[in-house]
Amino acid sequence: MSFVTHLECSYTGEQYEANRPHNLSKAGKPLLVRYNLDAVKSALTKEKLATRTEGFWRYRELLPVTQAGNRVSLGEVVTPLVLLPRSAETLGFSGEIIVKDEGRLPTGSFKARGLCLAVSMAKEFGLSHLAMPTNGNAGAALAAYARAAGMRATVFCPDDTPRVNIEEIALQGGETYLVNGLITDCGKIVGEGKEAVGWFDVSTLKEPYRIEGKKTMGLELAEQMSWELPDAIFYPTGGGTGLIGMWKAFDELEAMGWIGPKRPKMIAVQASGCAPIVKAWEAGEEHAPLWENAWTAAAGIRVPAAVGDFLIIRAVRQSDGFAIAVDEDDIFDARAEVAKSEGLLLCPEGAATYAAFKAALADGRIAQTDRVVLYNCATGLKYPMTAESKTIDRHQPIDYAQFN
Ligand SMILES: *Cc1c(COP(=O)(O)O)cnc(C)c1O
Repeated sequence: MSFVTHLECSYTGEQYEANRPHNLSKAGKPLLVRYNLDAVKSALTKEKLATRTEGFWRYRELLPVTQAGNRVSLGEVVTPLVLLPRSAETLGFSGEIIVKDEGRLPTGSFKARGLCLAVSMAKEFGLSHLAMPTNGNAGAALAAYARAAGMRATVFCPDDTPRVNIEEIALQGGETYLVNGLITDCGKIVGEGKEAVGWFDVSTLKEPYRIEGKKTMGLELAEQMSWELPDAIFYPTGGGTGLIGMWKAFDELEAMGWIGPKRPKMIAVQASGCAPIVKAWEAGEEHAPLWENAWTAAAGIRVPAAVGDFLIIRAVRQSDGFAIAVDEDDIFDARAEVAKSEGLLLCPEGAATYAAFKAALADGRIAQTDRVVLYNCATGLKYPMTAESKTIDRHQPIDYAQFN
């Protein structure tokens, strides 16, 4: 069984039946899953939850899968909170910098959360062929979970997607196509191929369940912080699924009486080469037009147009947060700084949140005593790195003084 009552258009509130596959609502907006939260509250206690071990499936009462046998799993874990004490000290910051390190999940990124749920629901509905556009990590998670569920996955990537992502998608059985364009161009192919091929479109926010998977980041964070949310969350924002999902998680937890009304400032971080949400937020708009010539090496946030733009911007506003863009150089300086001082290798998107945190601390938007959480959404190992190493000729006498 599940506690789902219905789906709801995030824009018009129109209701839809939950027990069949859906893409966008009639209004062309994302659908949100609604639950009988009173019934969840009766069925689940914080104490009962504390005894469970199975990664984010521990929150199953707040997830849409009805049959336990449809839960597809590759060994999901609760991702750790890693403190950055040396960085705080260097910055003269007396609060806490906490990294939620999502790189420990299957396929090395938090895309596993969303795709695990989307594929599990596809299994429940008897779908057999899924397709999506991707900048890399989503495609890898889709391919992995689709194979774990015995389904086909067809994946379209911009042709400059990092090689490692393309290779992992293909090796995990994804039928992989490189497209000479951006993720939005790839998305068009998936949308237009629906009738001709019959695949199901699992693009970001174009089916209702990836949000439910990403929602578990918010549930998990709340539980790990003993149901006391931080002052601010810095989130590297592409399609915004995670930010929207966490915001939904906090509302559901409040409705269950598990947390109070206090919310973290939700801070949408983008790269200055692709910052449609920042631009719209600064202009006081709710919708963000397509960003032309989008570029950043932080591929996960190279998303020139987001269908959930208004949901991201509303959460940012309601939380008294903000949207902020960081320069490319600052992203890579931040990656090197944290890796060298803390021993934690962030992905470029995660490094962008650290760069944004530094900027917001400097301009006073973050207070000296705040507890802030930065989302590192993938393992740093999936990205090209610049090496700084020296060489030794073992046939020559070695000058040991150089190591002093
Ligand atoms: C996809 C991705 C993001 C952006 O996530 P959204 O929830 O789609 O905004 C950020 N970082 C990494 C590493 C990603 O793969």
